[in-house]
Amino acid sequence: MNKLLESVIENNRHWTQKGKLATYIPELAKMNSDTLGVSIITLDGEEYYGGDYETKFTIQSISKIITLMLALLDNGRERVFSKVGVEPTADAFNSIINLETKSPQKPLNPMINAGAIATVSLISGKDGEDCFKRILNFTRKITGNPSISINEDVYKSEKTTGDRNRSLAYFMKSTGVIEQDVEQVLDVYFKQCSIEATCKDIARIGAMLANDGVLPWSGERVVSRSTAIMVKTIMVTCGLYDASGQFAVEVGIPSKSGVGGGILAAVPSRMGIGVIGPALDSKGNSMGGIKVLAELSKELDLNIF
Ligand code: GLN
Repeated sequence: MNKLLESVIENNRHWTQKGKLATYIPELAKMNSDTLGVSIITLDGEEYYGGDYETKFTIQSISKIITLMLALLDNGRERVFSKVGVEPTADAFNSIINLETKSPQKPLNPMINAGAIATVSLISGKDGEDCFKRILNFTRKITGNPSISINEDVYKSEKTTGDRNRSLAYFMKSTGVIEQDVEQVLDVYFKQCSIEATCKDIARIGAMLANDGVLPWSGERVVSRSTAIMVKTIMVTCGLYDASGQFAVEVGIPSKSGVGGGILAAVPSRMGIGVIGPALDSKGNSMGGIKVLAELSKELDLNIF
């Protein structure tokens, strides 16, 4: 299997040249655009690697599935989905247009920035620091990695340049979606995006979801089966924003991307996959990462449809 992963990486490395690093968060522009790596964690405990799998990257929007699970644990389904919808979008992940024209009271889904900011505002904590500590501890648990923490430089970079997210959040405060202090909610959001991980860490989250909410390495249940199924469903319909349909056709695995170049994939009852490739396509998804997942899906017969 490691041989297969090495060859899939080498077959697809050329795609990284067609993508571009995210520059709107200046710190992300410092990544190496040739990087391409993959890690697989199977539900029976096997681990496989290929390419630049040891590269650390910030998980960015992949954090949105972590905060969705935590918000659901804290509030239940009814409250969470009274604040955020589950409908796919045909617009960019940081678009503001739907908030004004379509659904001022409810961002379309928790995988776009507006929906993720609304979701994180629901997580319990006596203040922002406490709330983020809970997110970090939950991330450490579901990756099985107690040393996970944030990349301070990326966090500062996001915070100083995050005016688009600020505008989304203040708009949602004006329509009552956000009830808390906006700057505090945003600070937690910037931190969750700046959590640093490797392919293996995100593959482990994928393996937990593939295993319907139970950590395969310890047998501990962290979310209910119905929550795991719901999160995987939202990953299929919204996980790659306005490229989710194309990705479902090309790859057919519940997945979540981030502008750090990571993609987390959960193959039900089989495995979690983590890929890294910081060169992005025009929708903000890893150019090489998608191609690696497409080839693996074909080679290993992973398409859920
Ligand atoms: N931190 C990024 C942002 O808020 C996350 C977006 C992404 O990964 N698509 O713009």
